[in-house]
Amino acid sequence: MKALTYIRKGRFEIIEKDKPKVVEATDAVVRVTLSSICTSDLHIKHGSVPRAVPGITVGHEMVGVVESVGEAVSKAKPGDRVVVNVETFCGECFFCQHGWVNNCTDPNGGWALGCRIDGGQTEFVRVPFADNGLTKIPDNVSDEQALFVGDILATGYWAAKISEIGEDDTVLIIGAGPTGLCTLQCVRLYDPKRIIVCEKDAVRQEFVKSHYSDVVVVSPEVCLEKTLRLSEHGGADRVIEVAGAEDTFQLAWQAARSNAIVTVVALYDKPQVLPLPNMYGKNLTFKTGGVDGCDCEEILKLISEGKIDTTPLITHTFPFSQIEEAYDLFENRRDNVIKVAITPH
Ligand SMILES: [Zn+2]
Ligand SMILES: [Zn+2]
Repeated sequence: MKALTYIRKGRFEIIEKDKPKVVEATDAVVRVTLSSICTSDLHIKHGSVPRAVPGITVGHEMVGVVESVGEAVSKAKPGDRVVVNVETFCGECFFCQHGWVNNCTDPNGGWALGCRIDGGQTEFVRVPFADNGLTKIPDNVSDEQALFVGDILATGYWAAKISEIGEDDTVLIIGAGPTGLCTLQCVRLYDPKRIIVCEKDAVRQEFVKSHYSDVVVVSPEVCLEKTLRLSEHGGADRVIEVAGAEDTFQLAWQAARSNAIVTVVALYDKPQVLPLPNMYGKNLTFKTGGVDGCDCEEILKLISEGKIDTTPLITHTFPFSQIEEAYDLFENRRDNVIKVAITPH
């Protein structure tokens, strides 16, 4: 089978590989029916993911059909349509037992697929701990609807959940890239009083305005002033920072009211300054980190009920044979691209 492979910094190549087999009793092999390109794939390409192992098949956002399972797998069975979770987790260690699956202590735990072991931009993928890493897709949910459940939508869902959003809250979301847009959908589930989205890119601003007319869209230059003006108590009650740009961390805490929760999902290129003297007395609560991707079943239920729909994010679809063109388009953000889906043929 053909697999898009990380060769070295700056180089991905399609190479021929053997179809994967079940190795551990807890493994499953999944035939990929739809996959996507994530910004993290670009990070691997650019050499900014030191853990990424040259030679691995990239891709960690995918759905498929179970081909075979190991003898210890009890939930997934051949023929099941499934979402593949970006995170591999054992389900048994201290952190997994608390739902903090991002910190699973198993040697294979964490972001392994498409980073340390072969991922999904190919025909078949081996998924370790399949009972945790695969979630059955309801019959009324399409592959397109389920595509982001295991990665960026899981992230948006988790970010909204830990932000403890109430109905009287003004929520500021900084960044309307793919993960920011997923976060926006999940914040809406809590029905807060007001949602403000800060985004500098005109195409993304327009996307938010056209799909969510009740959301206030602001550019970074006016975000602070507008948020303070629109909020009843001197700032946003909840701030979710998904942008990870040069000044967005500073914006996040400055736009928050006293005693607000500031959730930092963004991944930064550089260390950020926490100016404690300036924020003294503001009594902020910061929540930070990487997604605990263990709510896929709940997310699929919400999609099935029509409460979440991320299909508008799929602006382009390419067959696997043109995946290099798809990367080129996504990486250079041409043609108003938000997300690209990759079909097998
Ligand atoms: Zn990703
Ligand atoms: Zn674990």
